[in-house]
Amino acid sequence: CGVFGVIGVTDAANFVALGLHALQHRGQEAGGIVTHAPDVGFQSVRRFGYVRDNFTDPETMAMLPGQLGIGHVRYSTAGSKGQTAIRDVQPFFGEFAMGGAAIAHNGNITNANALRRELIERGSIFQSSSDSECIIHLMARSLQKTIPDRMEDALRRVEGAFSIVAMTRTKLIGVRDPLGVRPLVLGRIGDGWALSSETCALDIIGAEFIREIEPGEMIVITDKGIESTYPFRPKRPRFCIFEHVYFSRPDSILGGRSVYETREAIGRELAKEAPVEADLVCPVPDSGTPAAIGFSLESGIPYAMGIIRNQYMGRTFIEPTEQIRNMGVRLKLNVNRALIRGKRVILVDDSVVRGTTSRKIKEMILDAGAREVHFRIASPPTAWPCFYGVDTPQREKLLAATMSEEEMRDHLQVDSLRFISLDGLYRAVGESRGRDASAPQYCDACFSGEYPVEPADMVEQGFRP
Ligand code: 5GP
Ligand code: SF4
Ligand code: MG
Repeated sequence: CGVFGVIGVTDAANFVALGLHALQHRGQEAGGIVTHAPDVGFQSVRRFGYVRDNFTDPETMAMLPGQLGIGHVRYSTAGSKGQTAIRDVQPFFGEFAMGGAAIAHNGNITNANALRRELIERGSIFQSSSDSECIIHLMARSLQKTIPDRMEDALRRVEGAFSIVAMTRTKLIGVRDPLGVRPLVLGRIGDGWALSSETCALDIIGAEFIREIEPGEMIVITDKGIESTYPFRPKRPRFCIFEHVYFSRPDSILGGRSVYETREAIGRELAKEAPVEADLVCPVPDSGTPAAIGFSLESGIPYAMGIIRNQYMGRTFIEPTEQIRNMGVRLKLNVNRALIRGKRVILVDDSVVRGTTSRKIKEMILDAGAREVHFRIASPPTAWPCFYGVDTPQREKLLAATMSEEEMRDHLQVDSLRFISLDGLYRAVGESRGRDASAPQYCDACFSGEYPVEPADMVEQGFRP
């Protein structure tokens, strides 16, 4: 998901809509905006579909007055799937002592089931099936005297990944879980401030990127300025390494470095680790593009757009049902036949998850007359599900969970298949000595199976890490 908020600007909702538009790659199912203005209080609009279709017409935007607003773009990792329940669309808003609050959450709460059971037993009335709603109820029940204090109170009970943008009548609040699994950044716009999942959304509104919110940090912004605190027991940060590989936009800055440069470095590393003789390096667009460029630069094999992407389709993996996803490949990608015929082709993609996309692409490439197809993947085999806010399928559906690399190659029927090593990936993201096995610098659970926070709800349902 993507979260965004601004304070201290005229017509905040317009800025939030633009910010969310720039974060649309993080969630395409639905979006919502909440604003506050002294005369009308909190206002909220939540809808299915793209930001550009829902938050551009003057009538809608007129329903969201004020100088303070937050927003969310959703893709379901918990709660209902797809565009089925508008009640699961964020931001969530609740009125309680001190006027209430609205929150937008990116990540996944790993003990949400347990918290929900407890809250329901104590009388909370849930409106949604979303894990994030727990936070509002915990806040409503807290005995603390200010909303930021109540939020701290609530979040101390929450486990898992959260990057949150929240607001009260007068405050914009940003907070990251102690591991800092999901990103969150601070920007300056005129006399106001912005909080965003990624820096690309600061660019679109002309805000200056100030800094990242630190893992475990909470900042409270009012018209008097910013207050920063560290309310949680400190832990060694474990940022999601997959944000570098796939999730974030290539024009965003993560950890002081452009995501594009990191992906190019991943491609270079991959070319060093798994070279192969071929005529062309082609990305599987768009997610494989920067890595393919890096692969080409390192290997000297020409880069070519052998597969063309229809720009009017969304991201495949964000389509929530298997059926839509299966159709999606052909609707979205087509082979550039004239280029491919008779060639030995290296295809670079970011990840192999179920293997359905990869298999279809390989068939399309062979149909177009390619002589050889070599897959090079910019992440290690995805063998474990993510419980921290990326929607990987159940373990059984992950190709790498049941097959060795050679079996996967056989299954995809390609001439060769190689993944970047975990150490190689760490080097590419800037850890020159690779992965520190005794204290890994990132979360890499979907590749390693080492979960930095126990996925309690899943363990309760029988999952064994
Ligand atoms: P596959 O070949 O595994 O079906 O799909 C791999 C491609 O689709 C990659 O380009 C990746 O960007 C995307 N993808 C498909 N499904 C998922 C998924 O569930 N999770 C993630 N992280 N990426 C996926
Ligand atoms: Fe990121 Fe994978 Fe960890 Fe999920 S499990 S937070 S996708 S590295
Ligand atoms: Mg892709």
